[in-house]
Amino acid sequence: MVYVINLMDDIDRLLLSPRKAMYIKFIYESPDTTKTTEIATYFGVDPSTVTKTLMELTSMGLLSHEPYRATSLTGKGVIYAEYLVRRHRILGLVLTHYGLTPEEACEEAARFENSVSKVVIDSMCRSMGHPMMGVCGRISHDPCCCNGPEKRQEKGKSQISAR
Ligand SMILES: [Zn+2]
Ligand SMILES: [Zn+2]
Repeated sequence: MVYVINLMDDIDRLLLSPRKAMYIKFIYESPDTTKTTEIATYFGVDPSTVTKTLMELTSMGLLSHEPYRATSLTGKGVIYAEYLVRRHRILGLVLTHYGLTPEEACEEAARFENSVSKVVIDSMCRSMGHPMMGVCGRISHDPCCCNGPEKRQEKGKSQISAR
């Protein structure tokens, strides 16, 4: 648990470039489609570019990657991926509160989500009562936001959104 909490405190410092974040999300959401060539086809880039990025992510401890083999997320990588998905969906939800349709909210959140820090995402998540559904899918709450000190104090209160 100490390891998990340290990672989450670290997440802004580890902040990934938008492209790296997209790779992490893609591998998280398509665990069966993670060969270098498949990732290259999906993003329309050269396989050598993919290999370079995958090696960088591997050296950050987020991926376990061997050339020409399938790539998978490490435990740390999964936590990071879940954070990225939550960040996108929390921001999407906030935008729907200001009149955007779910489709618009999804698209607009993707334009700026990479510059929003975890502190802000956690505050939004808390203020909305840790919603379970976002505009484009379920939201899983990482140990730092939902099982952190604050949540433990709130134990007993229902955290399930009515929607
Ligand atoms: Zn979305
Ligand atoms: Zn939360």
